[in-house]
Amino acid sequence: MKALVFYGAGDIRYEEVETPKPSAGDVLVKVKAVSICGSDLAGYRGGNPMRVGPLIMGHEFAGEVAELGEGVTNAKIGDKVSVYTNLFCGECAACKAGLTNICDNRYIIGTTMKAGSYNGAMAEYVLAPADKLLPLSGKRTFAQYALAEPLSTGLRAIRRAGDISGKTVAVVGCGPIGLLTIMALKHFGAKVIIATDVIDKRLEMAKECGATHIVNSKGDLVAFIHEVTDDVGVDILFDAVGIQSTVNQGLDIVRLGGEVIWVGLAQTKFEFEYKHAAVRELTFKGVYLYITEMEEGIELIEAGAIPVEKIITAEYHMSKGPRIFEDLVSGFAKDIKVILTND
Ligand SMILES: [Zn+2]
Ligand SMILES: [Zn+2]
Repeated sequence: MKALVFYGAGDIRYEEVETPKPSAGDVLVKVKAVSICGSDLAGYRGGNPMRVGPLIMGHEFAGEVAELGEGVTNAKIGDKVSVYTNLFCGECAACKAGLTNICDNRYIIGTTMKAGSYNGAMAEYVLAPADKLLPLSGKRTFAQYALAEPLSTGLRAIRRAGDISGKTVAVVGCGPIGLLTIMALKHFGAKVIIATDVIDKRLEMAKECGATHIVNSKGDLVAFIHEVTDDVGVDILFDAVGIQSTVNQGLDIVRLGGEVIWVGLAQTKFEFEYKHAAVRELTFKGVYLYITEMEEGIELIEAGAIPVEKIITAEYHMSKGPRIFEDLVSGFAKDIKVILTND
């Protein structure tokens, strides 16, 4: 089969590789659509130590079951499926507490080839454990279904925040996760949704996704938010960027005693206005992956309740992958979400 193989920073090649054979309990899935994630781009830049080549990336995808490994009874050839790509151990303290998303021993399909892991879906076929298959009706496109995975991170962010209906919220950063979070916030009834970013095109997209207010954070963001919220600040702030400036600025955007949800993971370490945060009695919650939110995401996509396709700005054949990755990391391409297909 043909696949996009990542060898190291700046090096992805579209080449012939051996088509994998499903072992017992696994299935082979014919990839119909795979979406490029920001973490794939970070890997391509060389900024993700987990991604060591040779590796086929791609963890946001959908396709059709093409071959069954021994003993698989929950799927048949031709079934349309998405895959829950977080392979957790089920035995660590986090798993036992139901927090399989932060399993100590997890690995994610398409992000690492450490022992026991699986290559990802930037290929004609991908292997997956049969018990990780999520059935699809086929009512929506495979590209829409491929976005169930990033959508579920947005849903997880909202779940961490609790009841958001009637609330005034801000979403900092209108990349794919920020935009999907905005759509989900709208669906679940947030009253005021203020979206911020430094790129106007993304802010326009945020408006289409359901933001009630947009503001370019190159201007006076704090003044804007205080004006919109009668000097109170927002109830909940979703930081979908995660760098020193957004995290610290967030402290002045959220109301006293408010809540900050950290979704973005752009920077690992930075200076934080600790005292300013503590004396305002702010609550901070981290978000990582999802638990049952992916099933929920698929249901919402199936129902047409969350129009994820809005953020897809380009679709290319897999063979164009090496150029697309280069264009996206160099900033030459201004796409929000790019889908790769084999057709
Ligand atoms: Zn991702
Ligand atoms: Zn575990």
